[in-house]
Amino acid sequence: MATARWLVALSAMIVLLLCAAGVLAQAKPEASLIITNAKVYTVDKAHPEAEAVAILGERIVAVGSNADIDQWRGANTKVIDARRRLVLPGFNDAHVHFISGGLQLDSVDLRDASTPEEFARRIGERAKLTPKDEWITGGDWDEEKWNPPHLPTKELIDAVTPNTPVFVNRYDGHESLANSAAIKLAGITAKTPDPPGGTIVRDAQGNPTGVFKDAAQSYIDKVMPPLSHERRLRAAKRALAHAARLGVTSVQDMAVDYADIAVYSELAAKGELTTRIYAAPLLAGWRDEAKIGVRHAFGSSYLRIGALKAFADGSLGSTTAYFFQPYTDAPNTRGLLSDEMHPVSKMRDRMMKADEAGLQLCVHAIGDQAISMILDLYGEVERAHGSSDRRSRIEHAQHMAAKDFDRFSKLNVIASVQPYHAIDDGRWAERRIGPERIKTTYAFRTFLQHGVHLAFGTDWTVAPLNPMLTLNAAVTRATLDGKNPDGWLPEQKLSLSEAIEAYTMGSAYAEFQENEKGSITPGKLADIIILSDDITAMDPRNIPDAHVDLTMVGGQVVWSR
Ligand SMILES: [Zn+2]
Repeated sequence: MATARWLVALSAMIVLLLCAAGVLAQAKPEASLIITNAKVYTVDKAHPEAEAVAILGERIVAVGSNADIDQWRGANTKVIDARRRLVLPGFNDAHVHFISGGLQLDSVDLRDASTPEEFARRIGERAKLTPKDEWITGGDWDEEKWNPPHLPTKELIDAVTPNTPVFVNRYDGHESLANSAAIKLAGITAKTPDPPGGTIVRDAQGNPTGVFKDAAQSYIDKVMPPLSHERRLRAAKRALAHAARLGVTSVQDMAVDYADIAVYSELAAKGELTTRIYAAPLLAGWRDEAKIGVRHAFGSSYLRIGALKAFADGSLGSTTAYFFQPYTDAPNTRGLLSDEMHPVSKMRDRMMKADEAGLQLCVHAIGDQAISMILDLYGEVERAHGSSDRRSRIEHAQHMAAKDFDRFSKLNVIASVQPYHAIDDGRWAERRIGPERIKTTYAFRTFLQHGVHLAFGTDWTVAPLNPMLTLNAAVTRATLDGKNPDGWLPEQKLSLSEAIEAYTMGSAYAEFQENEKGSITPGKLADIIILSDDITAMDPRNIPDAHVDLTMVGGQVVWSR
């Protein structure tokens, strides 16, 4: 027995010696790809800057000067001369709705149709391309752009869509136009009553004109066919192409349908998933992942599951974010908790079970009391199951109670935030919640001061997927209406390097992948982008003009200009 053990030790030693000799005797392996002559901003604190990167297969093998990296060059090495342009790790959007985004890209675009004729022409063109049994949806029309403004009617589009049902929405989502084919399928007539909270717009004889407002939209929604696999696949491809063009190499897809995961998995198998995806279905289905023993961040480098998305409240814009005190401009309400929080004990139970199964929790909470309640629940989960590296998240975390920053940090909860919402809501948020609460709103600086991990995202399609717009928002905090050129709540501005870090390492940490991606570091996945302009050296107001010249995922160029 003792001899056997000694023999094992001896042979292990021999193997080690042989390996060491081999490494010494052999030159470096040949890199498959080298990026040289670049300004590399690595987001790696140990070596923040470099000139060149060597890649072998899907991973980075070396980062250094042009001369260092030249040693990795071999006869078959591909070389990209970056011509001194800025090279960054790819962006990781910590909160998107990827298939909705793809569907939006894939649907008819009516936003800038400036006349009724143009509106009808675009729908007619789309009808020619629309497969049988599919509807024309989306649109985001705005009749205020017409002169004079007036609501569209079904007659405007019936002639060009005799066999294709149409249901296209106004840009605010509060009303939609149906054509006669859709109205017929829904069985709506002059006799159909308006539903509570909704209106069927009618002509003088009481016949529907085609526009359905608010809750009345559900009359048509109900008869729309569910998304087919084909349509999801097409949407996913559109979203992937869009992400590649924008330098988004990873996304964390919130509230996905299982059918979306099936599409991603099919694309992954074909090697067509050009953006890495961490998919978080709804918490209500926690049993599905728990029963097969999947834990957080389970899967391949391209597609992982094991996170769950839940909702605690609504949004600030619709006065449904849940606050301790009433809204300043709507003193009769403090907002609304979501269905999932009625009663809170049910939410607690689901969170406990999901945590017990090792799944990661991502809870949407926007108002200060909703955030506080979720922190309470995270605290209870930790007390019940002990402290561990669970990285629970609060999605949005927009309006913080001052007392809660410390708790956020002590519980190591991740603030998954969307800076573009700040410059959008910043136009009117103070009117809604007053001067006191506004101080701890979109409080990115305060989060960092408390040692809270920030992960950046967009909530695409709520905001654009373009990372340049998000970086600009975080660094300038200049609201979209141009009224705060020096920054809205300027004390909450971040530096560009802090913003880039939150968008790369921060988001990677939020999905347990900080050892795999998020910086340009030897050993990590080669998810790298080249920018047209050096955003680190320009006036931050001009960051939105910069674009991505090249996007690489796992050492493969997935897009170049
Ligand atoms: Zn969202």
